[in-house]
Amino acid sequence: MSTYSAPLDDISFALRHIAGLDELALLPAWADVGLDHTEDLLAEAGRLATEVIAPTNRIGDQTGSALNDAGDVITPEGFAPAYQQFINGGWTGVSADPEYGGAGFPLVVDVAIQEMITSANMAFSLCPMLSQSAIGPISAHGSDEQKHRWLPQLISGTWTGTMLLTEPQAGSDVGALTSRAEPQADGTYRLWGQKIFITWGEHDMTNNIVHCVLARTPGAPVGTRGISLFIVPKFLVDQNGAVGERNAVRCIGLEHKLGIHASPTCVMELDGAVGELVGEEHQGMPQMFTMMNKARLLVGLEGLAVAERAYQQAAEFAAERRQGRRPDTESGTQAPIVEHPDVRRMLLDMRARTEAMRGLLYLNAAASDRGARHPDPQQRQHARQRAELLTPVSKAWCSDQGVEVASLGIQVHGGMGFVEETGAAQHWRDSRIAPIYEGTNGIQAIDLVGRKLPMDNGAPLSALLEEMTGLDKNLDQAVGAIAEAARWLGEHPGDDALAGATPFLEMLGLTVGGWVMGRSWDTAGRLEAAEPQQADFWRAKRISSRFYLDQILPTAPALLPAVTSGASALG
Ligand SMILES: Cc1cc2nc3c(=O)[nH]c(=O)nc-3n(C[C@H](O)[C@H](O)[C@H](O)COP(=O)(O)OP(=O)(O)OC[C@H]3O[C@@H](n4cnc5c(N)ncnc54)[C@H](O)[C@@H]3O)c2cc1C
Repeated sequence: MSTYSAPLDDISFALRHIAGLDELALLPAWADVGLDHTEDLLAEAGRLATEVIAPTNRIGDQTGSALNDAGDVITPEGFAPAYQQFINGGWTGVSADPEYGGAGFPLVVDVAIQEMITSANMAFSLCPMLSQSAIGPISAHGSDEQKHRWLPQLISGTWTGTMLLTEPQAGSDVGALTSRAEPQADGTYRLWGQKIFITWGEHDMTNNIVHCVLARTPGAPVGTRGISLFIVPKFLVDQNGAVGERNAVRCIGLEHKLGIHASPTCVMELDGAVGELVGEEHQGMPQMFTMMNKARLLVGLEGLAVAERAYQQAAEFAAERRQGRRPDTESGTQAPIVEHPDVRRMLLDMRARTEAMRGLLYLNAAASDRGARHPDPQQRQHARQRAELLTPVSKAWCSDQGVEVASLGIQVHGGMGFVEETGAAQHWRDSRIAPIYEGTNGIQAIDLVGRKLPMDNGAPLSALLEEMTGLDKNLDQAVGAIAEAARWLGEHPGDDALAGATPFLEMLGLTVGGWVMGRSWDTAGRLEAAEPQQADFWRAKRISSRFYLDQILPTAPALLPAVTSGASALG
C-alpha cells in the first residue's frame, strides 16, 4: 500500500543549492522571521504530511466528498480532524502577512511545505491552497476594514476561501462571464448567477467559507474590462466579526470526476447573495492577476508533488516485486524487478524529472520573493521579470511532467498499476487536472510566447539564457536552440507563433530543468568529497543529474522544428 515519506534532504538541497535560500535569509525583509529554523519547520510539516494527512489520501479517493439533500457537502472520513491539525500548526499562513496572523516566511519556504502537504493528499491540499488564493487579492486590494474582517480567519484557516470565476460559457474566456452584481443603498451589492467547477465551494470542515466572486455591475463594459471582484461569505459576518445569517450562495451540485475525488467541485448558485466590492468597480481582472502568479506556481507544484509520491511508490514496488532472471541469478529464482535495467531506467527517469521540477519551482518562488522584497530596485525588477517569465513554464511544464511521471509509475507496476488496488492509478488520475485548471497549459504557452517573451524587448529571456550558458555542453545546445526558436517566434507573430507556443514552452521547461540538473551535478561533485558521511546522497544526485543532462535534456533542441513549422503545418 502506498505510503509517503517527506523527502527532506532533497527539499533542503533544492532550497539551499538551487533556490539560494541562504542568500534570501540575508535580506532585511526576512531578518527576523527565523529562517535559521527552516529545517525544523520542514521537519514538522513533513511529520504532519506523513503521519496525519497521507493516511487520508486513499479513503478520500475511494469515498469522495458527497452532497446531501440539505445541500451540505460531507467530506471523507478523517478529513475534518486532519484539517484541524493542519490549522492548529498555522500552516495556511506560512508566507502570509504577520500583521494579520501570518508567519511572514518567504514564498519559497511555503512552497516547500506545500509540496509535502500536496504529496500527502492533493485533494486535501486544494482547500488551503484556495484559501491562499483568496488571501492574495484581499491583502493587495481590500480596504483596511475588509482586511481586518476577513484576513485573520482566512490566514489562521478557521475559515476557508474559494475563487468563483468559471461559468458554463466562460472558461478560458473569463471575459464572457455574465454573473451580475447590483449596488444596494447600504453600500453592499447583491449577486446573481451560476458558477461551475468551484473547488471546495462547500464543505463541512469550517463554520464559514469566504468566496471571491467575479461579476458584472450594471452598465459594465463587455469583456474583461467590465469585471469586478466581490467577497461573498457563506454566512454573513457582522462588524464585530461574529458569524450570522446564511447568505444566498449555495452548492447545487457536485461534479463526478476522473480524480481528486475528495475535493468537492461544486456548481454554485448566487441568488441575490450579499457581497462586498473589493477596491473599485471594473478592476476585477487586474486584481486577479496579483494572485495568478502564485496560484499558477502552486498548480505546477501539484505536478511535482504527485510525481514525488508516484516515484516513492514505484521504487518500493520495484524492490519487492519479483519477475524474471538476471544473468547472475540461479535458474528457478526470480529477481526483484528493480534489478532489470529497463525498470531502473524508468525509476531514474521519474526521479530525474521530479528533481528538475523541484529546482524550477523553487527557483521561480525565490525569484518572486526577491521581486517582491529585495531592497535594491534593480535587483527587484530583474527578479520580478524572471518570475514572470518562469511562471507559465512552472505551471505547464511541471503539471505535464507530473502526469508523465505518474504514468511511468503505473508502468513500473505492470498490471497492478492498472488495477486500483495499489493506488498507482490514483496518482495519475489526480495529476491529470493540473494541466487543465488555473489557465490550461495551452493558455500558459500563449502567455509565454505572446506576453512574456516580448517583455522589455526580450531582456528577461536573454538574461536567463546567458546565465544558463557554459555549465554543460548539452545545456549549451539547448540554450542555442531556444535562442533560435525565440528569434523565429518574434519574426512570425500571430497564428504561426501561436502554433509553436506549446513546443516552445516544453523546450524552455526541459532546458531550465537542465540548468537545475547541471547545477546539481556541479554541487554534488564538489560536496561528495567534502561530506563523505553523505556520500550516498551526493552519488544519487550525480546519477540523476547526469541522466537528465544526457538522456532527457537532448529532447529540447529536437523540438525546434515543431516550434518553427508555422500554422500552415496544422492544415
Ligand atoms: C476539477 C476542477 C476544478 C476547478 N476549480 C475551479 C475553481 O475553483 N474556480 C474556478 O473559477 N474555476 C475552476 N475550474 C475551472 C477551470 O479553471 C477551467 O476548466 C479552465 O480554465 C478551462 O476552461 P474550460 O473548461 O471552459 O475549457 P475551454 O476554455 O473550453 O478550453 C477547451 C480547450 O480549448 C483550448 N482553448 C480555449 N481557448 C483558447 C484560446 N484562446 N487559444 C487556444 N486554445 C484555447 C484550451 O486550452 C482547452 O484545451 C476548475 C475546473 C476543474 C475541472
